Amino acid sequence: MKVIRKVSEMQQLALQFKKRDKKIGFVPTMGFLHEGHQSLMQSAREESDIVVVSVFVNPLQFGPNEDFERYPRDEQRDIDTAEKNLVDVLFIPELTEMYPSEQSVSLNVSKRSNVLCGRTREGHFEGVVTVLSKLFNITLPDKVYFGMKDAQQIAVVDSLVNDLNFPIEIVPVATVRENDGLAKSSRNIYLTELERKEAKNVYQALQIGLELVIDGEKNPDIIVKEVEDFIVQNTHGTIDYVELLSYPELIQVAAINERVILAVAVQFEHARLIDNIVFDDKGLISKRI
Ligand code: AMP
Repeated sequence: MKVIRKVSEMQQLALQFKKRDKKIGFVPTMGFLHEGHQSLMQSAREESDIVVVSVFVNPLQFGPNEDFERYPRDEQRDIDTAEKNLVDVLFIPELTEMYPSEQSVSLNVSKRSNVLCGRTREGHFEGVVTVLSKLFNITLPDKVYFGMKDAQQIAVVDSLVNDLNFPIEIVPVATVRENDGLAKSSRNIYLTELERKEAKNVYQALQIGLELVIDGEKNPDIIVKEVEDFIVQNTHGTIDYVELLSYPELIQVAAINERVILAVAVQFEHARLIDNIVFDDKGLISKRI
C-alpha cells in the first residue's frame, strides 16, 4: 500500500491509473477507521481495480463550537487498518496541503441542506461539498463509497455530482452497527459508560417508528412523536431532531406514500449521535440513492 501526503503526487498517480484504464474506487473518510469504514473499503475492493482511501479531518465542515480540535485521530492505526483491507493508496494530506491559502471560490448548497443536520450545523454541507470536490479532482474516482449512516450527506453529494457533472457513481453502503444496534462511529468513544448503554435506544427508537409504518401508520407526525417519546424516556440525551422526510429529496411529506427517511440526532454530554433508516411506504428498507 502506498501512503501519499502530497496533492500533486496523488493526482499524478490517479492520472497514471486512468491512462492504464484502471477503475478507481474511492472512500473519503476523516480517519479513526472502524468497521463502518472497512465495509466501504471492502465494497470498493470488490468493484474496483484500484482502491483509494483518504483520511482528512476537514475543518470547513466543523462549526466554531464543534469538535474539530478534539476529533479522534490515530494515523498509525488507520494505516494498519487500510493495509489490512487491501487498500492500494492511502491519501493523508496535511491541512496546509489541502488548504494552502484561504479559499476564494465557495460552493453553496441550496437544497437538501436546510433540514436534519443542516438546520443546526450551519455551513456544514458547504464544507463537505467543497472538500469532496477537491478530493474528486485529486483522486479521479469512477465510484465513490459513502455510508448510509450519513444519509443526508449522500443526498447532498448526489446533488453535487448531478449539478456539477462529476463523472462519478455514488455507491451507498448499509450502516454497520454494534451488536446492540448502535451505529458505529468514531465519536462513540466520547460516550460515558451509562450513555453507551443508553445509546442503543436511539436505534431502538427508529425501529419503533419503522414498526408503526409496517403496521400501516401513514401519518409522519404520529411516528415522529412516538420516536421522540421513546428517546426522551430511555436516554439522558437531548433530542436535536427527529424528522421524517422524503428521500433523497428531503422534503416534508403529508403521508407516507413514497420512500422516506426517518432520522434522529441526539446530543449526549460529549457526543452527538445521528442515525436513520430509509424505507418505502410498506416499511421495506432501501439502500439505493
Ligand atoms: P467519517 O470518517 O465519519 O467522515 O465517515 C466516512 C465515511 O464512512 C462516510 O461515508 C460515512 O457515512 C461512513 N461511515 C461512518 N460510519 C459508518 C457506519 N457505521 N456504517 C457505514 N458507513 C459508515
